[in-house]
Parts: sequence; structure tokens; C-alpha cells
Amino acid sequence: MTAKLPSLARAKWLQDTGLRAIFAAVASAGGEARVAGGAVRNALLKIPVADVDLACTLPPEAVTKACVAAGLKVVPTGIAHGTVTVVAEHRPYEVTTLRHDIETDGRRARVAFHDDWQRDAFRRDFTMNALYCDARGKIYDFTNGYHDILRNRITFVGDPAKRIAEDYLRILRFFRFHARFGRGAPDRAGLAACKRHRKGLDNLSAERLRQELLKLLAAPGAVATLKVMAREKILQRILPHTEDWRVLSRLPSDPVLRLAVLAAEPEGLRDRLRLSNAEARRIAAVVETFPPSPDLRPREQRAVLYHLGAEGWHDAVLVAWARTKAGLDDPRWKRLLRLPGRWPVPRFPVTGHDLVAHGMTAGPELGAALGRLEDWWIAADFKPDREALLARLAK
Ligand code: ATP
Ligand code: MG
Repeated sequence: MTAKLPSLARAKWLQDTGLRAIFAAVASAGGEARVAGGAVRNALLKIPVADVDLACTLPPEAVTKACVAAGLKVVPTGIAHGTVTVVAEHRPYEVTTLRHDIETDGRRARVAFHDDWQRDAFRRDFTMNALYCDARGKIYDFTNGYHDILRNRITFVGDPAKRIAEDYLRILRFFRFHARFGRGAPDRAGLAACKRHRKGLDNLSAERLRQELLKLLAAPGAVATLKVMAREKILQRILPHTEDWRVLSRLPSDPVLRLAVLAAEPEGLRDRLRLSNAEARRIAAVVETFPPSPDLRPREQRAVLYHLGAEGWHDAVLVAWARTKAGLDDPRWKRLLRLPGRWPVPRFPVTGHDLVAHGMTAGPELGAALGRLEDWWIAADFKPDREALLARLAK
């Protein structure tokens, strides 16, 4: 049943000069570093390798010393749990000392360092994330991860329920990796354990929730996976959600757009997920504004575009389009999407300074007057120029 492990000796990323320098530095101090986790997984799945993280037998102080001696820059990004970031050839590599958790409360852990590769593998979440590759490209697989890679199956390392109780974020990670790499239905034992322990999701910090949820929403299989999560009553522990699956499946795989449609109460999202201002603004543009449509008259379209700005327009059109029955190559919607290219959003040519120059005093009344003038300008299809606007002001 165990498939023969391939070698990554010929992988190009494994030959990066920076990475080789780290392997060499650690070896010269009597330790060993291996590439661990996502990079090995992706290489075996034959998809691009982005971040290369390493695991290492030396404690963090010794890693630091060895790398500094080799002329590399070291940043102590997470010493308490054994991680330093080594910058080599202008690229950052996270180097984490082999470890296991000695105390967990479902949210964070205290860790102990050691030099036992297998034990390090057993503290990882899923078998396909617990693979290592040494400097020569040899793969180490203590959990049968390669077997799961070949089957596109996300399987917990060890007993799913126990692993979830150590860190409830693993529930969300289970679905996020399934959405990205899984095929067919999620692993049954894993899914059942996620369902049973779903209440643990309530206590996760907004930061951790946010990161995993946005990654899940960006994955190609997100919609099918979200449906499973909703069916198993797991999704509602993360956010009050809609069931607009058809609309969601018609959106591009943009996590913020998907979130705007998925969230039943978008107003509460900002705090729940610590959204950035830019993300919150994008969501507001989609849910609060009058939806663009090719059925609007051109001047109405321009008014909506003016309110939204070019980026908000793009988002709002995609969502409004997804809510219709129009095909995804519908020429009218495609043309609507490109409106900002034909009609660059104009700038309102009058400012508060102009009003002050006309004898008004600064304050709320001035703001209101400026707003009324702008409304008039929009209603006139942006035609009046600065002169005309100032003339109206004088009246
Ligand atoms: P991605 O390409 O999406 O970053 P990744 O596998 O690198 O995928 P990370 O979240 O960056 O995922 O984590 C790196 C590795 O650390 C994982 O592959 C896994 O082995 C381990 N890991 C991360 N978070 C956890 C967790 N909560 N519980 C157990 N192991 C974890
Ligand atoms: Mg990663």
C-alpha cells in the first residue's frame, strides 16, 4: 500500500543558492535542516512551491549562531516556539527547531525542542503537511502522507478528535486544505471529528480565524467545501452565512468578494474577522450600493460608478452579475464591467476652499452645501464644469 517515494533531487527550488547556504550552515554546526511542510507537499503534488520552510535539529540559538557565522541575516521571529527567519539571497526562510507541544489549550501551545524527526512529524496537522525533504532531495514520510497526496485526501495525523482538541483552528485548516488539494468528499473520520468539536471554533482569535478563512475562500474548491461545512453546521460557528451557493459559484475565486456574498450580516464581519479597512470598504461597496446593471441608463451607470470608484465598480458588477441568470460571457455584462475604461471617473472640480473664497465659513453647513452642489453635478451627468458650478454657488 505504501507507494515508492519519489526523489526531489532534481527540483529546481531545492538548488536555490540561499537555501543551500542554510543547509550548509546548519550542517557545519553539527545539525541537520530539512525542508518541511507545504513546500514538500506542493512539490509532490506538482504545483508551484511558494514559501520554503525548514525544520532543523539545532535549537534556535544554535541555528542563529551558525547562520550568522555563514554571513546570513537572522531575524528572531518566533523564538518561543522555535522559529527564526533566515534571510538568504534576499529571500526569507523560516527555520523551526524540531519540537512537540507539551501543553495545549485548544488555542496555543508550549513547546519542547528535540532532535527527533518523527516526533516533529506527529505534531503536524495533516499527513500531507508532515513530509520532509533533505538537502539531497530524499523524502521522509513518517505518517503515510505520500499515500494521501496521491489520493488528494486530507487526513489528520493521529486521532482527529485529539488533534482538534489541541488546536481548534485545525478544523478550519482541514477544510481549507480540502478546498485547495482535496478531491471528492472530505475524509470521513476527519469530517466527523470536525463536526463533533465544532463548538471549539467559538474561542479562536479573530486573527487566526481570518487568515484561514480567507485562504479557504481563495481556494478553487471553496464553494463545494463551504457547502459541506454548512451542511455539518460548522460554517455557522464561524459566521452567520447565506446559502447563495449558485451566486458564490459564479464569482471569481476572490476571497473578499466571496465573503461579501457568503456573509449574512456583513456589518459584523469587520470585528469578527479583523478585516482591514480596504477589505471592509470592498465589502461595503458590494452590499450597500445600488447594484450596477446593464439595464440602467448610461447616466445612471455613470452615477453608480462615480460613487463606487473604479475598483468598487469592478467588485459590484461581478457580484451583481453573479446574482443574475446571465451567462458568464454575456456581452452586455462584460461591457458594463469595462465602463471605467471608457469613462474615467471624473473628479468633482469644486472644493471647500472655493466655498470659503465665496464667503462661507468652514463647518457642517459648508460640507452640506458642497454635498448639494455635488449632487446637482451628478444629476446633470457631470457636465457642469468648475465655472458653472461656481456660478450656481453664487446664486
Ligand atoms: P500554505 O502554502 O498555504 O502556506 P502550509 O502547509 O505552508 O501551506 P502553513 O499554515 O504555512 O501551511 O503551515 C506550515 C506547516 O506547519 C504546515 O504544513 C504544518 O505542517 C504545520 N502547521 C501549521 N499550522 C499548524 C497547526 N495549527 N497544527 C499543526 N500543524 C500546523
Ligand atoms: Mg506556509
